[in-house]
Amino acid sequence: MSDTPTPRDELFNRRVPVLDKGWIELQDLMGDDLAIVNAARVSFLGESKGSEKDKKLLFYLLKHRHTSPFEQVEFKFRVRAPLVTWWQWVRHRTWSVNAQSGRYTPFEEGDFYVPDAWRLQSPDNKQASLGELDADRAADLTGKLLAHYEHSYRLYQEAIEAGVAREMARMFLPGFAVYYTWVVKVDAHNLMNFLRLRMAPDAQYEIRAYAWAIYEHFFKPALPWTAEAFEKFIIPTLGPMAG
Ligand SMILES: Cc1cc2nc3c(=O)[nH]c(=O)nc-3n(C[C@H](O)[C@H](O)[C@H](O)COP(=O)(O)OP(=O)(O)OC[C@H]3O[C@@H](n4cnc5c(N)ncnc54)[C@H](O)[C@@H]3O)c2cc1C
Repeated sequence: MSDTPTPRDELFNRRVPVLDKGWIELQDLMGDDLAIVNAARVSFLGESKGSEKDKKLLFYLLKHRHTSPFEQVEFKFRVRAPLVTWWQWVRHRTWSVNAQSGRYTPFEEGDFYVPDAWRLQSPDNKQASLGELDADRAADLTGKLLAHYEHSYRLYQEAIEAGVAREMARMFLPGFAVYYTWVVKVDAHNLMNFLRLRMAPDAQYEIRAYAWAIYEHFFKPALPWTAEAFEKFIIPTLGPMAG
């Protein structure tokens, strides 16, 4: 057996940076494109019919929403993301999650999300942003945000030093901005549902950054045929990350 790492091995050796302090790593992966095809062919004892026919069958399955074979592939990620992102991520009930809670591990000074731009509220869509604040006002607001983090963190430390339990001291922290590291697991069918919703231009920028990173760095290289079919049948009009 060769010791040369395969493209699949390389998926496990990368930490993909997201936002200012976040990242995603792949911890485990069960199955590949062929596993999906073989699950659909279970009545034929999982025999491959050659890659051209296998790929055609996979495209047929996704086109006609025969989704259960895609549930045979599972991804497990370790993700560091701010709470503003987790808040949206956990709405996807088909993911299994294990969360760093802040009850056991103390937070550190640098555990807060600092956005690189201040998006403006869209005038006609309550859930959307449109454009960015000008550079001078943005720099002023960022300075105030950093001062707010510093002040909150000092109060947090003061409570810890007074002997208060970490589970209560964390109330001093700016909740939405705190980074947490979670382990999350999902099958390929439900991951595609997450990607369809969260890569879309109407999803919040922060979670879109994570969805695109998962798609480009893990989903696409792990399941190239599925990704091709996904782009053809599920998200044909998806805009670019910046769109
Ligand atoms: C742009 C955007 C804006 C959003 N805004 C809001 C908002 O303002 N407020 C808000 O509360 N949420 C909001 N959400 C969250 C949204 O309502 C969904 O909860 C989230 O996108 C998860 O989608 P899902 O249910 O398809 O995924 P999952 O929970 O992963 O479920 C996948 C599929 O499994 C099935 N399923 C899972 N659990 C059940 C169940 N208990 N019963 C029946 N079927 C089930 C459904 O078919 C579902 O589509 C928003 C989402 C997006 C993308």
